[in-house]
Amino acid sequence: MNEERSTMPWFGMDIGGSLCKLVYFEPKDTTKDELESEIEVLKNIRRYLTKNSAYGKTGHRDTHLQMDNVVIRGRKGTLHFIRFPTSEMGNFLALARMKGMANLVTTVCATGGGAYKFEENFIREVNMKLAKFDEFDSLIKGMHYIEAQNSDECYYWANPTDETRCAKVNYDFSNPYPFLIVNIGSGVSVLSVNGPNNYKRVSGTSIGGGTFLGLCCLLTGCNSFEEAIELATGGDHTHVDKLVRDIYGGDYERFGLPGDLVASSFSACCSFGQMNSRDRRSKVSREDLAKATLVTITNNIGSIARMCAQQEKIDRVLFIGNFLRVNPIAMKLLAYAMDYWSKGTMKALFLEHEGYFGAVGCLLQFNE
Ligand code: ADP
Repeated sequence: MNEERSTMPWFGMDIGGSLCKLVYFEPKDTTKDELESEIEVLKNIRRYLTKNSAYGKTGHRDTHLQMDNVVIRGRKGTLHFIRFPTSEMGNFLALARMKGMANLVTTVCATGGGAYKFEENFIREVNMKLAKFDEFDSLIKGMHYIEAQNSDECYYWANPTDETRCAKVNYDFSNPYPFLIVNIGSGVSVLSVNGPNNYKRVSGTSIGGGTFLGLCCLLTGCNSFEEAIELATGGDHTHVDKLVRDIYGGDYERFGLPGDLVASSFSACCSFGQMNSRDRRSKVSREDLAKATLVTITNNIGSIARMCAQQEKIDRVLFIGNFLRVNPIAMKLLAYAMDYWSKGTMKALFLEHEGYFGAVGCLLQFNE
């Protein structure tokens, strides 16, 4: 058995501020000899990871994202995508220990701030060394790799404001440069990418997915991202926001501002009075508040993205990160905003494996 085949680590981890993303590569071209010599612990771990789609109370495998027949450093196999809240790291390590991980001498590729924060815990609790990689290098490498393997990876939203005609459309991203990445995680980073190894971080904002979830929980009493999105889906932000037409009675034509544009988030006034009156607040539903929070955060990110694209003279903007998970409202808003405010010159693009590129990228970089 050659050295490369036996020592290859199968995990890539991206330990973020909110979620830990774990990518597991399961080789499918294992020879009979390899299978026989594989130790029991490894077999058990593989079985556990690939037979379940839920791990403990909070771990999930995104089976719809699974990729079969992919090749990583000459090996053919399946990529599995698993996530759990970073706050559950203690339980994750306890589970890994219970499954016998500490008996393997392994190195795991890791990126994200948690690769530094939890480094000691990994060594102490599961005898695992972390091979640390830069998160933006990993993100871009992972993105290019997945995009090249999956012809359906990249898409845009056609007719984003028309519920009946709105559709996801495949986008050929084989000739990508230059493009902008807007990574919406707990916070937001904006990268300008001009070539495979040529990128810079041009901007960012602390008002991101974490802000949405935090504010939404505070305002509505909801307890999870999924619940927040569900509430927002049934809400109407115009009950909460002050629109251009609330001020002008219609469009502000001279500067091309349509009447239904939000002029001031969370400050609606109408026959009930203002948002700062107790009576007015009592008329607003949890759903409306969730939707207004989502619209406020998303429009702010869209506005920053457009200004960065303009400054960098780039017309394709790739939005990624787990804020976009199960979140078509935000994607459609971004698609519309980019198109409308750039007068059709900029395009918002999206990727199916939205939050997993950092984890994939650091797995690919091991021993590079
Ligand atoms: P990070 O690396 O900062 O954790 P991610 O790209 O993983 O960033 O995105 C985190 C964001 O994704 C959260 O702030 C939240 O808005 C959203 N999100 C999507 N699904 C979940 C979930 N199941 N639990 C918590 N946050 C989620």
